[in-house]
Amino acid sequence: MDTLFIAGTWRPAGNSGTRSIHCPADGQHVVTVAEATADDARDAVAAARAAFDDGPWPRTPAPERAALLRRLADRLEAEKDDVARLESLDTGKRFVESQIDVDDIVSVFRHFADIAAADAGRVVDTGMPSVASRVVHEPVGVCALITPWNYPLLQTAWKVAPCLAAGNTFVLKPSELTPSTAMWLVRTLADLGLPDGVANLVLGAGAEAGAPLVEDPGVDLVSFTGGLETGKRIMASAAATVKRVALELGGKNPNVVFADADLPAAIDNALTAVFLDSGQVCSAGARLIVEASVHDEVVDALVARARDIRLGGPFDGEAETGPLISEDHRTKVEKYVAQALEDGAELRCGGERPSGAAYENGYYYLPTILDHCATDMRCVREESFGPVLTVETFEGADRDQAEDAAVSLANDTIYGLAGAVWTENAGRAERVASRLRHGTIWINDYHPYVAGAEWGGFKQSGNGRELGLAGLEEYRETKHVWHNTRPAPAGWFPDRTGGAS
Ligand code: NAD
Repeated sequence: MDTLFIAGTWRPAGNSGTRSIHCPADGQHVVTVAEATADDARDAVAAARAAFDDGPWPRTPAPERAALLRRLADRLEAEKDDVARLESLDTGKRFVESQIDVDDIVSVFRHFADIAAADAGRVVDTGMPSVASRVVHEPVGVCALITPWNYPLLQTAWKVAPCLAAGNTFVLKPSELTPSTAMWLVRTLADLGLPDGVANLVLGAGAEAGAPLVEDPGVDLVSFTGGLETGKRIMASAAATVKRVALELGGKNPNVVFADADLPAAIDNALTAVFLDSGQVCSAGARLIVEASVHDEVVDALVARARDIRLGGPFDGEAETGPLISEDHRTKVEKYVAQALEDGAELRCGGERPSGAAYENGYYYLPTILDHCATDMRCVREESFGPVLTVETFEGADRDQAEDAAVSLANDTIYGLAGAVWTENAGRAERVASRLRHGTIWINDYHPYVAGAEWGGFKQSGNGRELGLAGLEEYRETKHVWHNTRPAPAGWFPDRTGGAS
């Protein structure tokens, strides 16, 4: 099983370990891959280290690096359906959604190619004719890129594109559940002429294949996207060698609906916000925070429509959303809903697996709405990462009190990834958006983003920045070079040696 890519060579795991990947929609076998050991991970770091220290890539001019990223984007466009198919088989995600993801990925590679090619550093005026001072950018070094399973290639692209654009080398460790598009990526990069050792791939579980990357002194930067608890472990481990760490973690994202919103639009988008990809989206609008006077109208409509959502596999043209990623994950969501009911939430719809032969071999769970929730309940505080919407209600005696009440609920979370506000009052929209402590705020919308915008969390949603200019900054050092063209003694300490020194 030669599916680890190290120093330009495909090879098996050192102990010949393997893992079978099955489609979460129907259990069909997709691929069997090598399961890397800690030694394999260390080999991959050594390869990336050698390619950084002695290879040509860090010294390749930025326009040439950008050109390679553009060729990769072209190849992705040409192979869009093949790549989308790989992604759908690993994740169980609808094929049309994977196709949209590939379009996004193309734009991410082009975006970082453009900003890398345009980088010229800057000159600082010293006021001294014989001294030149300049600020230049340099790659950080060897990067460990660790990604989750929900948007496998998209999350990888958010890291690989700026990492390569800045001239780094890397070891990629995708989720053990979704290895296929990562293999496509490193194979294609090699095919396009990326020097050996610049892109390395280890597949396998976090503890065995991921943790050794974080510990390895040969790694300079860790960029991680995944769950909060894993992120904390990674940050603590990376501290031992003072690595640069970029974390993109979970979210528990508020979707605030005021009574003066365009309610049909708010209701429709609230469904997409939380049930897209069965809620397995870091920015999912999993907390509906609705003004009391429209609570019944909004929640009744959501319940009626959620009951109609069609579940199915990636290539079922009728399906509107898909399965959860694994049996373990479905069990976690089930426990979370059971706990919510114990804590006093009211189950309005869902709360169980769908019945029928079509769902028997997949990890499906019905779109679920829990009403009468409060911020002290676990279902509101913790990320379920499933198709579960919690509903909280606010009210206020006047305009300001209503806004205060909504903002106070929406910010009452350890997370701060994303959120939305729905209102037809433009002043209110701006006031509330500016007070929400979350990294992305949509006003009268949910989910869209563009490659040039920043993406990152406040609070415990992480310390990273991806997608925008800051996304490239994560991957480069900024160096100040002071060049004195007329060297002279500093003159602080008089020379009293009579020339003996
Ligand atoms: P996870 O934390 O379980 O795993 C993520 C990756 O880390 C996997 O590759 C895993 O193998 C690896 N890993 C696990 N333990 C490790 C360790 N000790 N050392 C090194 N690597 C280790 O997360 P997941 O279940 O794959 O993904 C879901 C989570 O990702 C959700 O919390 C979601 O919100 C988050 N997410 C965040 C964003 C964002 O932009 N903020 C985007 C997508 C997903």
